[in-house]
Amino acid sequence: MTIEGISVDSPEALLGDYDVVIIGAGPAGLAAGIYAARAGLQCVVLEKGVAGGQVLTSPSIENYPGFPEVSGMKLMETMAEHARKYVDIKEGEEVLRVRGGEKYELMTVSGRYTCRALILSTGAYHRKLDVPGEDGMTGKGVSYCATCDGFFYKGKEVVVVGGGNTALTDALYLNSIGCKVTIIHRRNAFRADKHLQESISRLRIPVMFDTVVDEIIEGDAVASVRLRDLKTGVLSVKPTDGVFIAVGEVPSSQLASELGLEMDHGGFIVVDKSFRTNVPFVYACGDVSGGIRQIVAAVHGGAAAALSCFEDLMNPYYKR
Ligand SMILES: Cc1cc2nc3c(=O)[nH]c(=O)nc-3n(C[C@H](O)[C@H](O)[C@H](O)COP(=O)(O)OP(=O)(O)OC[C@H]3O[C@@H](n4cnc5c(N)ncnc54)[C@H](O)[C@@H]3O)c2cc1C
Repeated sequence: MTIEGISVDSPEALLGDYDVVIIGAGPAGLAAGIYAARAGLQCVVLEKGVAGGQVLTSPSIENYPGFPEVSGMKLMETMAEHARKYVDIKEGEEVLRVRGGEKYELMTVSGRYTCRALILSTGAYHRKLDVPGEDGMTGKGVSYCATCDGFFYKGKEVVVVGGGNTALTDALYLNSIGCKVTIIHRRNAFRADKHLQESISRLRIPVMFDTVVDEIIEGDAVASVRLRDLKTGVLSVKPTDGVFIAVGEVPSSQLASELGLEMDHGGFIVVDKSFRTNVPFVYACGDVSGGIRQIVAAVHGGAAAALSCFEDLMNPYYKR
C-alpha cells in the first residue's frame, strides 16, 4: 500500500514525512534547520548523538564572531537552543541508510522518514596518530586545528605532524603568527602541493623527515614529544609547547555513497557554490563538503544549502 506515493509496507514505522530532512546537528545542520524552517519548509534535524557536533569537545572558541571567548559546549548549547525555536531536533536518531526514489527514504535506529529533499551535514573527524599521550593531552597542548588553536601558541615552540597540504598550510599559518614551528613527517618527501613546499623552504621552517612521534609526554601541558628516526631507529626527546596533528581528516560520507553523490579523492562531498550536490534535491554543507573546516564556514554552508533547497522545492520545473 502507498500513501502519497510512499510505500508503507515496510516493517519500519513511518515517523514523519517532510519537505527536507537535515542529517547532523553540528553548526551546519543547526543553521540549515533555522533557515529551512524560517523559509516555511517542513523539516526535522536527525542527530545520532546530541546536538552540537564536534565543537562540543573544544574547551574554548575565540574565532566565532559575536563570541570573543566561549566554551564549545556553551556556544553549541546556545546555537541548538536557537534552532529548537524553529525546528525539531531528534537526538539519538542515527540515519543508517538512505534511498532515493519518488521521495527520499531514510532508515534510522528507530524507524523511517521520508522527504522531498535532504541536507547532509554529517561532519568529519580528524585522523589520530594513536600514540600514548595523545588522548590525554588533547586540548592541553595537542590540537588538530591550527586555525582554531594556533593563537594560544604565539611565540612558543610547536611541532606540526604530517606532510600533506593541511600540515604544510598549518605550519605556514603557525609560523606567520609567530610560533617556532618544526614539521615532523614520517616519509622522506612531502606529498603537499609544490607551492606549499616552496614556501616552507623559503621561510626555512625546519623539517624532520623520516621521523615519527612515538609518544606525547604527558604533564599539566605538553612539554615534549618522543621521536623515532625511522632510518636509524634512534629515539630522541624534543621539547615543545604544542603538537599540531595534521595527518588527515575523514568525512562522515557513508550516506553520500549510498546516494551516488560525487565525492573528491578524500571522500568529501562535491558541492557547487550553492551547496547543491550532483543529485537533485540533495545538498551538503559543513565539514563533510570539505573547504574551510570552521564553525563560521559550516554555518554559512548550512544557511546557503537550506536556501538553495527552498528555491528548488518552490520551483517544480527546476532542472539541473
Ligand atoms: C577540538 C576541536 C576544536 C575546534 N575548534 C574550533 C574553533 O576554535 N573554531 C572553529 O571555527 N572551528 C573549530 N573546530 C572545527 C569545527 O568544530 C568544525 O568545523 C564544525 O564543527 C563543522 O561543523 P559540521 O556541522 O559540518 O560538523 P560536525 O560538527 O562534525 O557535526 C556533524 C554532526 O552530524 C552527526 N552525524 C554524523 N553522521 C550521522 C548520521 N548518520 N545520522 C545522524 N547524525 C549524524 C554527528 O554526530 C555530528 O553531531 C574545532 C573542532 C574540534 C574537533
